[in-house]
Amino acid sequence: MDSMDTQIWTRYQKSLRNCLNEFSFSYLENMTCCQMSETRWEIALPDRSTLNYVETNLADKLNEVLRDVLRESGINTDVELAFCVENQKHPTSGMLPFDERPMRLRDVSSVSNRTAAFQISPSSAYLNDTSSSDLVVASEELRKISRLNERYTFDNFVQGNSNDMAYAAAKAVATKPGGNDFNPLFIYGGVGLGKTHLMQSIGNEIIETSLLRVQYMTSEDFTNDYIRALEKKNVQEFRDHIRENYDVLLIDDIQFIAGKIETQKEFFHTFNYFLEVGKQVVLTSDKHPSEIRELEERMRSRFVGCGTFDIQLPDYETRLAILNKKANSEGIYLPSEVADYIAQKVATNVRELEGCYKRIKANATAHHERISLALAQKIIDPLYQTRTVMLNADDIIKCVSEYFCISIEEIMGKSRAKPFVYPRQIAMYLARLHTSLSFPDLARAFNRDHSTIMSGVTKIKASLANKDTNLEYDIKRLEDKLFK
Ligand code: ADP
Ligand code: MG
Repeated sequence: MDSMDTQIWTRYQKSLRNCLNEFSFSYLENMTCCQMSETRWEIALPDRSTLNYVETNLADKLNEVLRDVLRESGINTDVELAFCVENQKHPTSGMLPFDERPMRLRDVSSVSNRTAAFQISPSSAYLNDTSSSDLVVASEELRKISRLNERYTFDNFVQGNSNDMAYAAAKAVATKPGGNDFNPLFIYGGVGLGKTHLMQSIGNEIIETSLLRVQYMTSEDFTNDYIRALEKKNVQEFRDHIRENYDVLLIDDIQFIAGKIETQKEFFHTFNYFLEVGKQVVLTSDKHPSEIRELEERMRSRFVGCGTFDIQLPDYETRLAILNKKANSEGIYLPSEVADYIAQKVATNVRELEGCYKRIKANATAHHERISLALAQKIIDPLYQTRTVMLNADDIIKCVSEYFCISIEEIMGKSRAKPFVYPRQIAMYLARLHTSLSFPDLARAFNRDHSTIMSGVTKIKASLANKDTNLEYDIKRLEDKLFK
């Protein structure tokens, strides 16, 4: 580099430091510029995992900052950025977070004896002379012993407001297991929101990129293995097995360990051991550590730290993106109005969202039909009656009066003529269904006694049960107006 190049390079590094947060910048600290021409800069990063991270998450920003720096330096040509791993001859050097390389490839291909197969080996020659097919064998073997499910990957996990922090932390852990700010990483949130998916994505990615030995288990698996070891009187072996044979420990649903005193103790020692030697631990739970009852205080305090992230209910946009991604990956045509309808209605959790989509798909296949809005409504509506919009009786009375072209006074009045009774009963039925008002409340709202409301609601329910299609149509249209 000549001195002008050096100046620009230094300016570029400074700008990056200013524009990126500390966490992102940490990936660039050891970058060097190994080739610089007028049209192309080649940037070397210390290892493959850093390269992966930078290419996936930071490349746009790096390009943007570069454009600015060049412009400020009076250079108006476009410069392309290319990334490579420093010292290509040793593509994995520096990838593993430990001084000791955890295994040799030739050991991996004979995993029949699990304990003997994974001797911690200080060999620095690890992987240097291996071909890509050996790597495939290695990752397959690692996956077999990991208990991971291959279907959970970062690629098919949709990011959104509800999970972006947890996602970013999971990515950071997968990129630098043991050597990141989140050890342990603790992900918590309600059922079906993607905790297991995210946790397993970490494991699958680590196996792909770092070839470390990952173990995924639920806290119940841990408990069962421990109890079995107690029964067989080989607790020491159980202990050594986990400690010596795995580099990354993923424990799902840790809340189930609460109340199991002996198992907690055992787990705590394993957990501490992993952290002490710099091995990565990831935990999930349905609650924040402070809310898990019957958890030892010392454990609680070790779980809480800068690596605690929650996953929330996904918002509408994320639900839509999840559905579209799912259908796309399966090559299924999901019309946009159908995706929109499912995403609107099924707002509970991702597992239910997927369940609805699967049910609609299965129904369409079984009847040789296309996936249509009508089909989606037929399947979803009986299951998801409750709406998120809060209505009151007045909204409903007004909407019904407009729909039937009668006045509010006529709905509220005493006339028993059919053109008034029918709308009135529908209004009562809708008010009962879509508000939280009790029968006495409804009686006041409709200016009637409580038994009149009950019989009105019962009448409509009975007609619906008898498949009164006109009534069904009227109610559907009214609900559409009310919830539009
Ligand atoms: P949890 O462990 O929190 O109960 P899971 O990880 O088992 O939830 O997720 C339930 C289902 O929803 C799984 O099939 C998972 O693949 C899917 N899922 C959850 N979150 C997402 C997401 N953000 N993107 C794609 N699929 C998701
Ligand atoms: Mg789970």
